[in-house]
Amino acid sequence: MVGDMSGEFRVGHGFDTHRFSGDPERPLILGGVRFDGVPGLVGHSDGDAVAHAVTDALLGAAGLGDIGVMFPDTDDAWAGADSLELLGDAVVRLAEAGWRVVNADCTVVAEAPRIASRRDEMESRLSGVVGAPITVKGKRAEALGALGRGEGLACWAVALIERP
Ligand code: MG
Repeated sequence: MVGDMSGEFRVGHGFDTHRFSGDPERPLILGGVRFDGVPGLVGHSDGDAVAHAVTDALLGAAGLGDIGVMFPDTDDAWAGADSLELLGDAVVRLAEAGWRVVNADCTVVAEAPRIASRRDEMESRLSGVVGAPITVKGKRAEALGALGRGEGLACWAVALIERP
């Protein structure tokens, strides 16, 4: 219970950015949801920047390092990986250390795709994997910089965890 502050609480922050791929066959996956009609993201895994930012927020909160340490992109085991599975693995690592997730909140900055129409699906998938409410917001970069030119997208996430 968040209202009962007798436990130990930590916050964590995560950030991730990926370039859009020139490969028309590569799907765009964000928060475990596939977006059609938009280029996919370059990455060793499926490039799901939302899942990656949430994973880093959780690992950071627990002092368990970061996604690059836990799932090295030099390891072929993670090539094309479903990033929701990586997120689920991180939640297990937290649980093994006695932590449970209270919630996480994400902001995706992208000119495209529009997040709002798929937000419920993304939140449902992420929350299902984490076992706690994960919320997602979309923002546009207002034509500023690389994100505004649509060269890629970025995601920021914060998370709260609790150890009773
Ligand atoms: Mg990433």
